[in-house]
Parts: sequence; structure tokens; C-alpha cells
Amino acid sequence: MYEQEAGADRRPVLVVGAGPVGLTAAAELRRRGVPVRCVDRAQGPSPLSKALAVWPRTLEVLRRLGGGKRIETHGLPIESLRYHSNNREVARIRFDDRTRPVTLPQPDVEALLGECLSELGGEVEWGTELVALEQDAHGVTVELRTADGTAVREEFSYVLGCDGASSTVRERLGIAFDGSTYAPLFALADVRVEGPLVHDANYYFCGPKGVVVLVGLPGGRFRVFTAAPAGTTREDIDLALIQRLLDDRGPGGLTLHDATWTTGFSVHARHAERTRVGRVFLAGDAAHIHSPAGGQGLNTGVQDAHNLAWKLALVHAGRAHETLLDSYADERGQVARTVIRQADLQTRAWTPTKRWHVALRDTALRVASALRLGDIAYVPGLAGLTYVYRQGAAVGPAGSVGGFTTGALAPDRTVWDRRTTRRVPLRLALTDLRMTLLVAGPGDHAVPAAATALAATLQQQYGDLVETRYLDTTDALLSDTAPRDAGLKRNDGRFALALVRPDGYVAVCGGGRGPELVRDWLRTAFPAQGHRPAATATAVTESDSESELKEALL
Ligand SMILES: Cc1cc2nc3c(=O)[nH]c(=O)nc-3n(C[C@H](O)[C@H](O)[C@H](O)COP(=O)(O)OP(=O)(O)OC[C@H]3O[C@@H](n4cnc5c(N)ncnc54)[C@H](O)[C@@H]3O)c2cc1C
Repeated sequence: MYEQEAGADRRPVLVVGAGPVGLTAAAELRRRGVPVRCVDRAQGPSPLSKALAVWPRTLEVLRRLGGGKRIETHGLPIESLRYHSNNREVARIRFDDRTRPVTLPQPDVEALLGECLSELGGEVEWGTELVALEQDAHGVTVELRTADGTAVREEFSYVLGCDGASSTVRERLGIAFDGSTYAPLFALADVRVEGPLVHDANYYFCGPKGVVVLVGLPGGRFRVFTAAPAGTTREDIDLALIQRLLDDRGPGGLTLHDATWTTGFSVHARHAERTRVGRVFLAGDAAHIHSPAGGQGLNTGVQDAHNLAWKLALVHAGRAHETLLDSYADERGQVARTVIRQADLQTRAWTPTKRWHVALRDTALRVASALRLGDIAYVPGLAGLTYVYRQGAAVGPAGSVGGFTTGALAPDRTVWDRRTTRRVPLRLALTDLRMTLLVAGPGDHAVPAAATALAATLQQQYGDLVETRYLDTTDALLSDTAPRDAGLKRNDGRFALALVRPDGYVAVCGGGRGPELVRDWLRTAFPAQGHRPAATATAVTESDSESELKEALL
């Protein structure tokens, strides 16, 4: 997809694992023109429902990959989280269009991603296990073993370990996976429930003996899960036990029957000491695992893959500096630590050990509900909309201007996109295959000449990597060209520049210093452009018109 530098690496990237994370990585890399192989030691996709909640930021990623139809037909939008204590509702969090999650069981997410991968010409090599791996500065040699015992050694440019919590890739790299395992075993059933529950809500029945959670599933069942009493083994867990725990901890009057899956599972909180060693990366459960509280596991992993794919595609094509890849560990490590901390807090609230813990938890829930703290602070975080990447090579210096914040997602305020003649959230109107220089300012003011000059220079130097769009902030109009300035006031408007990355995050933004920041960031991340042929590689240096822009910008 990207024009390849002469001498660019043409060997494929190996994705190990075809769970949701590996499939996202393989599809996103293929979309960007990277040759990919994806192997999985299982004989085919897992039918187990496992992850259920898909939050808005992940929905965005899946829809971009073409999964919109399956999300509409197979997903169940969740309207609220309802917290009960001692048989009374103590708190309710309602979702809005921006924050609403969809219950879409993991097999559907994997099927969606698998379809997308095959539409892009890719496939999963099932029954193929990575057993050994070694690397040097130039590539990674792996040993792959197929189900019939045949072993082959092959060389790849990069390897992505998306091989789950017991990752072989992580183990072969000798990376520690420190953390802890919670004492109780958790019991789970996907089951029909007779009783007065609405289907599009998640219930948390909090009693002195623990919390039992019920999540509506598409098709009429509920997922029921709760911590099992001390001493329970996996073999003890069956529907009768889960019914007893529900009677004990729930509101009463709920009868379970017709289970499609009953299991016991341990909950861990661990993260890999490193997620990159040379040409090998870890993503998803291979890099971090935590309690299902908050339903973040699959979501965090899909976003790891999304974060890494565009960077790797640019580096693989020889268009970006290798250091861009370091930002993957910086950015996603920051997110993983936050997710693990929050899931841990919630899990402890689910398993209180003292009476005063229960009283404190219920009071905290009531206060948070009354102040709508959940809707304002907690839910946008779960939705994946509030992370701000503060360090690493893929963001510039911290700053905010005109609604843009460096390291945060570009805003999703609705705009009229002249290109598609549709009303859409701004972030979704921007391409995810290139970066976008957004020039934002009031429509009745001429865009400063320096902004259009900068756009022209970027077009010349970064050609297929950056496109420029103009946002009229007065009328929320997004255009491909600057408005003609005849009759407009000149340069006394308030303009802002934001360079938005292919993953929708703002790499850098600024008012007066905008041009300089954009230029510096591009130079740091994409030094390879300096080696492009002289005919296309005009150096981006400050021009008179950029000085003019500085005066006009905020
Ligand atoms: C009961 C339960 C409930 C959950 N609920 C939620 C929820 O509501 N929301 C949420 O976001 N998350 C939830 N999760 C977590 C979620 O299931 C995981 O985070 C998610 O599956 C991680 O995806 P992954 O692709 O990283 O790993 P996996 O899904 O584990 O996929 C790894 C793949 O790698 C393959 N593999 C392993 N080793 C090798 C090898 N050496 N060679 C080749 N292939 C290999 C495996 O066969 C597997 O297919 C839940 C998990 C469980 C168990």
C-alpha cells in the first residue's frame, strides 16, 4: 500500500495465534500491504463464548475492518449496568450513543475478523504451532510444527506473539510474566434465566457473601458468574452449584436452566516485563492478563494489535524509523497497567472479606451513582475513549489546542464531510491508512497562507503518508481544500493544526508552534523520507508563509 523504499524488507511478518488479537494484527497488516502469515496450533476456531463485551473504541476498529453488519446482526447493545445490594438497586450506569458497549461473544468477533482477513486474501494456517524462535539484527527464524509432526524452519522479518496467556513466544524470549492469581476460583454458566430481568442490562448483585454478575447474551441466554467458595475445585462446578450461589447472593426468584457452557476459571493479574525484544512483539493476553471485571481483555488486546500494525507497516515498507516501534511498548504498556489496576479494584470489590468492606462498597456505589460519576468518569474509560499516550516516539510534546490533545483520540464531534456528503464523527471521517494534517479554524476566515504552504510541502515530501483536510469549526464542515479566501477576513481567525495518526490519535497539535511541531515530529518518526529522491524530497524548512501562520494560529 505504501510506496516501498528501495531495499525494503519483503519477507512476511509472522503472526502467532489466531485469537481476536492475532486476527486483528493479521488483517490490519494485510490492509496496509504487508505480507503476513498467521498460524495457530489449534485445529480451528474455539466455540467458547469467553469474552462478551465489545466497547466503542474496539467497535470502531472492527467496523473499519468491515464488521459493521455482523455487529448489527449478532450483537446485543447494552443499555445499563445495574448494581444491587441487599435486594435494592443502589446504582445504575446508563450508556449513551458514544459509550454503549455491545455484547458480541468472542466466536462472533473471531468470525468477523476471520472473514475480513480472508477478504483481504489472507488465511489462518490452523494446526501449525510455533515451537522455537531465534533472531538476529536482520530477521527471526522460527520452527513451525504441523499436526502431523512435520517441522520446518522459516525466516520472517518480524514475529508477533499473539498466542495468549501461556504464550510460547514470551516463554522462548525468556520474558517474565509477573503478577498474581486471585485466591477464589470463578464459576461461569451461559444459561437461560427465568425471572424478572431485562435482557439489555448487566446486573451486579452484591451481597455480604460476594457478587454474582449476570450479562445478557444475544439469543436470550445470560452469562452468570461469581466467585466460588473457598475449597471449590473445577470438577465441583456445575449448574446446581451456580444456582445455589445465585440463590445465596442474588435477589431470589431466578431459576437457571438449559446451560450451553459451565466452567470454572482462575483469574490472574499479570503483565509481561517487556513487549518487544528486537523484531519480536507480544500483544493481547500474551502481554497482559487480568480479571474479566470491566470486560477489557479482548478489547485491550485488539487495540494493542491496532496500535502496532500501522507502525509496523510503515517500518516494514522502509518508510518509518525503527524507533517508531518502541512507541508500541511505551503506549500499550501504559494502557495495560491502567487496565490491570482498574480490573483489580473491581475484583476486590466483588470479593469483600469483611462486613465494613461491603458497607463501604455500597456507600461508594450510591454516592457515585447520585453524582453520575460512573457515566462521566468511569464509562468513557471502559469505552476506550480517554487514554492519552504521554510518552514515546509516536507522539510529540504534550499540548492541547482547539479540542485536540496530543496523545489523545481526535474528537468525535459530528461534522459534515464534503468528501462523502455524510454527517459523521470527525475521527471516523479521517482515513486510517494515512496520517491527516487537520487545519481547523472558523470558516469565515481565510486559512493562513502558511497552512496551505505547509500542506503543499507535506504533500510533496510525504506524498502517500499524509493528507491534509480543512475543518471549518463554525459550521462543522470537513473539506479537502481550503475555502477560497475572496471576501473573507484575513488571518485574524483562530486556527489550530493537528496531525492525526492512522489509529485516530493526535500525534502532535499546536497553535502558533503548530508547523514547527508537525515538522519536528515527522522528521523524528520518518527520517527515511530524507533519503527519498531529490525530485520528491524537498526539505521541510520554515518558510515565510509558515511564520505568517504562527501569527494566525492560536
Ligand atoms: C471466561 C472468560 C470471560 C472473558 N470475558 C471477557 C470480556 O467480557 N471482555 C473481554 O474483553 N475479555 C474477556 N475475556 C478475555 C478474553 O477472552 C481474552 O482477553 C482474549 O481471548 C485474548 O485474545 P488473544 O488473541 O490475546 O488470545 P487467545 O484468545 O488466547 O488466542 C491465542 C491463540 O494462540 C494460539 N496459540 C497458543 N500458542 C501457540 C503456539 N505456540 N503456536 C501457534 N498458536 C498458538 C491458541 O491456540 C489461540 O488460538 C474473558 C476470558 C475468559 C476466559
